Amino acid sequence: MNSYWHESVTSTEVERDSLNSDLDLDIAIVGAGYSGLWTAYYVKKLKPDARVAVIESNNVGFGASGRNGGWCSGFLPMTLSEIEKQHNRQAAIEMYSQSFATIDEIEKTLNSEKIDCDFHRGGTIHGATNAVQRSRVVEEVEELHSYGFSEDDSRLLTLEESRARINISGLFAASYTPHCATIHPKKLVLGLAKVVERMGVKIYENSRVTEINPRVIKLKNTKVRADVVVRATEGFTSLIKRHRRTLAPLYSYMVATEPLTKSQREEISWHNRETYHDARNMIIYVQITHDGRIAFGGRGAPYHFGSRVKPSYDNHDEIHQRIISSMHEVFPVTKDLEVTHRWGGPLGVPRDWQPSVNYDQRSGLASLGGYVGDGVAATNLAARTLAHLMVGDDHPLTTLPWVNHPSRKWEVEPLRYLGINGLLRLSNSMDKHEHDKGTVDKFRANILDRFI
Ligand SMILES: Cc1cc2nc3c(=O)[nH]c(=O)nc-3n(C[C@H](O)[C@H](O)[C@H](O)COP(=O)(O)OP(=O)(O)OC[C@H]3O[C@@H](n4cnc5c(N)ncnc54)[C@H](O)[C@@H]3O)c2cc1C
Repeated sequence: MNSYWHESVTSTEVERDSLNSDLDLDIAIVGAGYSGLWTAYYVKKLKPDARVAVIESNNVGFGASGRNGGWCSGFLPMTLSEIEKQHNRQAAIEMYSQSFATIDEIEKTLNSEKIDCDFHRGGTIHGATNAVQRSRVVEEVEELHSYGFSEDDSRLLTLEESRARINISGLFAASYTPHCATIHPKKLVLGLAKVVERMGVKIYENSRVTEINPRVIKLKNTKVRADVVVRATEGFTSLIKRHRRTLAPLYSYMVATEPLTKSQREEISWHNRETYHDARNMIIYVQITHDGRIAFGGRGAPYHFGSRVKPSYDNHDEIHQRIISSMHEVFPVTKDLEVTHRWGGPLGVPRDWQPSVNYDQRSGLASLGGYVGDGVAATNLAARTLAHLMVGDDHPLTTLPWVNHPSRKWEVEPLRYLGINGLLRLSNSMDKHEHDKGTVDKFRANILDRFI
């Protein structure tokens, strides 16, 4: 893997102990990504004396937290109407309001804890490059407004306005929301680790947990007893005993270019570092980095049979090539730029595409995750929520609709393999149809709606 984030971290990485003997704790957290580290942070804030440790199979930020697209976004994988259908209108509004407010909470915490991760709040542009995409962009803004959110939360831009922000090739329509910032993902996760260590949390690296049970977790030669055990393992969850079907690991891939020249930057505009995505079915996501490179990501890679996760899957020539072609299409100026970095990693995808925060006081089992590709900010909200659940202080966050939301398990193989890869192919073919014909393929859209 050749991740730009990994290469551009300037601070020296700390060597940490691995766990070689049994341990007794109040709270044991499995996984040193944002979920695990934010959980440790907020628990220690609420209960400074709690004995908390984080146990990580590789090293801090090894997972998606160290290699994502750096979108710190208040948007969630489930829409307002989906939440309303399962709960009620007020719950949907509360969930989104808290999610939007999370960007402020993160900014405030980065400042107070002096974590430098190139945080820049430029908002997001959601673009449309054909008529079908335009109707999706408009519907998204209308939906937010119909739940009482205002033009300050999301609004349509004129083409002149959007071109003045980012000059996208072939743009039909666009909307803007301020609820997104760009970050350097690896700097954030490493900075967070240092902060929690200062607060007295011990982080063990190169310590793989093989089994999670009520109040005890097992490693190869040791075990940890704790009042609460938190699973924060996201895209790697399928590797833990009895969790093969909890979250499907779907891969997302990225490339980064060399820095744009001054004249290329002028041509593209893009002075306020907004993030950019468009309304195709197979998601793409883009940011311009602190040092002026385009970091462009995309989903749609095939799912691996048996929910396997392997280092060799972190690169995928065909998907990287597809992402580069999309980048050339969106920003023709990038055809003249060298692609200097390519990487990827697994996302954690629940069967109903809905993240959750879970805590069972009786068994002491807790978990957070299933963010699909929207976890950078959501991990903070999930961790804050979990911290309040664990200390039992009846905080309003503990009634958010994702608390103890049950997602059913994925199907057994080969159904899971056939189903997920079928849906991925379907999304791709729908994009092609929408691009070529400018209409929705209703038959395929209905199938997709029923399964995602
Ligand atoms: C390429 C890519 C781009 C993305 N882009 C964005 C984006 O722009 N915006 C956004 O919001 N989201 C994005 N995401 C998703 C986002 O990065 C994740 O949702 C978020 O980082 C999840 O954090 P986490 O701590 O839950 O999981 P992770 O960061 O994956 O951390 C889980 C940790 O648990 C450890 N672990 C797993 N199993 C065990 C075990 N058995 N024992 C011990 N440790 C274990 C892993 O090694 C890992 O370090 C992207 C993801 C990828 C892969």
